[in-house]
Amino acid sequence: MAVALKKIEKKWQEEWEKAKIFEANVEPGKKKFFTSLVIPYVNGRLHIGHCFTFSRTDSYARFKRMQGFNVLLAQGFHATGEPILGTIERLKENDASQIETFKLFGTTKKDLENFKKFGPEFVAKYWMEKIIEDSKSMGYSVDWRRIFISAISPAFNRFIEWQYNTLRKKGYVIQGTHPVIWCPKCQSPTGDHDRLKGEGESPIDYILIKFKLDSGEILPCGTLRPETTYGVTNLWINPDVEYVWARVDGETWLLSKEAAEKLKDQLKKVEVLGKVKGSELIGKYVENPVNRNKVIVLPAKFVDPDAATGIVMSVPSHAPYDWIGLYDLQRNPEEVKKYGIDAETVMKIKPISLIKTPGFGDHPGIEFCEKLGVKDQNDKEKLEQATSEVYKKEFHLGILKENCGEYSGMKVSECKEKLSRDFIEKGIADVMWESTGLVICRCGTKNHVKILENQWFLKFSDEEWKEKVKECISRMKFYPEEIRAQFLNTVDWLKDKACTRKTGLGTPLPWDKSWKIETLSDSVIYMAFYTIARVINEKNIPAEKLTDEVFDYVFLGKGDVESLSKSSGLDAETIEEMRKEFEYFYPVDMRNSGKDLVQNHLTFYLFHHVAIWDDSKYWPKAIGVNGFVNVSGTKMSKSKGNIVPLRDLIHKLGSDVVRINIIASAENLDDADWRDESVATYTSRINFISRLVKNLKKAKRSEVKKIDLLLQSKVQQHVKEATQNYEELKFRSAVQVALFNFLSDLKDYIERCGGIKNCNQETLSHALSVMVKLLAPILPHVAEEFWHQLGNQTFVSLETWPEFEESKIDKNVLELEQNFKKLVEDVSQVLKLAGQKEKAYFYFVTEKEIEYFEECLKYLKKKFGFKKIFVYKASDEKRYDPQNKAAKAKYGKPGIYLE
Ligand SMILES: [Zn+2]
Repeated sequence: MAVALKKIEKKWQEEWEKAKIFEANVEPGKKKFFTSLVIPYVNGRLHIGHCFTFSRTDSYARFKRMQGFNVLLAQGFHATGEPILGTIERLKENDASQIETFKLFGTTKKDLENFKKFGPEFVAKYWMEKIIEDSKSMGYSVDWRRIFISAISPAFNRFIEWQYNTLRKKGYVIQGTHPVIWCPKCQSPTGDHDRLKGEGESPIDYILIKFKLDSGEILPCGTLRPETTYGVTNLWINPDVEYVWARVDGETWLLSKEAAEKLKDQLKKVEVLGKVKGSELIGKYVENPVNRNKVIVLPAKFVDPDAATGIVMSVPSHAPYDWIGLYDLQRNPEEVKKYGIDAETVMKIKPISLIKTPGFGDHPGIEFCEKLGVKDQNDKEKLEQATSEVYKKEFHLGILKENCGEYSGMKVSECKEKLSRDFIEKGIADVMWESTGLVICRCGTKNHVKILENQWFLKFSDEEWKEKVKECISRMKFYPEEIRAQFLNTVDWLKDKACTRKTGLGTPLPWDKSWKIETLSDSVIYMAFYTIARVINEKNIPAEKLTDEVFDYVFLGKGDVESLSKSSGLDAETIEEMRKEFEYFYPVDMRNSGKDLVQNHLTFYLFHHVAIWDDSKYWPKAIGVNGFVNVSGTKMSKSKGNIVPLRDLIHKLGSDVVRINIIASAENLDDADWRDESVATYTSRINFISRLVKNLKKAKRSEVKKIDLLLQSKVQQHVKEATQNYEELKFRSAVQVALFNFLSDLKDYIERCGGIKNCNQETLSHALSVMVKLLAPILPHVAEEFWHQLGNQTFVSLETWPEFEESKIDKNVLELEQNFKKLVEDVSQVLKLAGQKEKAYFYFVTEKEIEYFEECLKYLKKKFGFKKIFVYKASDEKRYDPQNKAAKAKYGKPGIYLE
């Protein structure tokens, strides 16, 4: 009979809720454990991606609860930024994929109409309800009295105002002029979480080298390697692209249309004068500003108008693209003839070597094209590889040759910055910012870099602040430990970060309400809000009573309650209650999240904590990081159409099976993989345990045998291993031990006893109880059911975690068992060669062995089909031993004779 999972799950969810066992209250003197689920965006239901991270957190919380901690597991909801407005916008535009996604999550036509009609708050609350429903059907042990929605709940927004007022007072929020990734449609900087594409991309500065036509106009070439200006042989322009002439800060420049638009956002005065086709510039000569060389403009289709200015200087000696571009023209002179250039001119162009690098010849650009077998300029993959290899090595090891003016003899890595500065000062170069890669805003618009004036920044570049974060990291635990280095690395490279936007949902910046605090900046200390959210929700405290001074008292212990009570209008008792909740539950004991959040959210979380709380006792204690989620081996994404709503899976399989199937599919930083085919493995094990629990009463033996001691010893080994695995969030290993290994030992035990009726009821019942406890964090509902079927009245969710008892391990029995296993192997080997035998004779060196062995006779008979088994002491003179096998007997290896 298969276990009726869904029925069981519903039953225990109701029982848990009725008994309020997951509501965490302040219990002075009782050790606490505080963790929270990552706040989900309220623009859809939960899917299998959430399920992996959430289930890990919940299973850990359940484990800690059983270890005797007063566990607070909290969940809130995220509405800040573009996502929700974006979805409404797309619905209004009848975007088919958006409608499809919502339908997948079960929305009706009416719901979609309501979304458009009632707007973001309605949408946020709608999805919040659905997510709570999903979380409850998963059995997540959340204290639901502490919910909020960021950017929507007034009290939470007040809390964010306090956070930013505090940061500003401490000098961590500054106003400045910085390049940011910018969405021209939203008129806002775009943080990682505002992006459909391009997480992690950031602004990078190109040096524009000003090549000049005889008539004085400038052709600015964007480069990341300004030192190579000394080796320019020609310029590249894309003949098919439309360029513009523009007045830029008083000079006349040639630029791609895109570049002219971008520069307008980079503090340059740009006035477009007229259009010109790229082809019209081909064949013209310009002067190289560093050495006065006249170089020709040649055509190249690889020039991208959307990369810097759309004009490229060509350094064939050190740039594979430039070499192959030139080589292509030299091989096909017809290409240039149509622009009125004679072939001879192109043939005469010789690469100019300007960097000396150990291990490279004079022209690495050419060498690498040959080495990798680059065919022509369309061979992009190989060209990218060649480029990256040449650039990297030349940057770190290269030295400029004697043709590089005053920079001759300097290392590339050392002269680059000085040279750029000098060029700009001399007026022969300028700067243009680009994104390191393509960024698409959630609104669907392509982004570019804007230099934002008077924008508000978190001063993440601050060295003292960084030091404090590093101190925090040094006190923390990381699971897996290897991720620590990545945190330290992120802290090192982190620069000032824009913390406000103009559009989207968000708390207005308290001192400059034209800005709103953006999504990765208001979701970093919300865990502190959970501690007081119950009081706020239950007492329905109006946001305006939660003044900065009240928060100062609650979170920082500053001020005097009596006068605070008067000034805020909030009674002293309530203020004290909030203070107690915070003091009891803080700090966060574990935060578990996906590995993509290390370089942003999780590091920001540390920055903000050390900034707000001087006292390190409130700093985060541990971070767990997990991999991404694949579905049958492929990354889950909207475009692939393989998003799996959690609700559908729970409905089909039951939530415990969903949980174990995802949580045990990976550990450490490996990506999880949802595989339908592994579900059967788990359901068959669950059904087996269920039968065992029901048949337990059939076990009639009361006498304790060696085999019982053996099972007891193994149970203890499993307890030890499983506990270690749980402690380090290694759920894959935990399931291996607590389910697979444990069950295989139970099967073994029953078989060796000769069926369940010959088992010792106490031994078996104890083993089953321990196993059920070890499985409770991962199969919470099923475990609860089995626990009660075993005759218990309590909730296994609140039971004490099995303690490892070394004294219960009988080392002697474990050793004898090992010997016995070897013997069984030996007998099978002999039988394989000799064929079936009827009688077996065993000769043992010691009495103790004999004793253990005699318990196993029935099992051996059955296993090998012997009619009779005789056991002798090797020294017994009356033994039957025609081949004198007793002489071969050793301790742990009895002699065997079969006939
Ligand atoms: Zn946008």
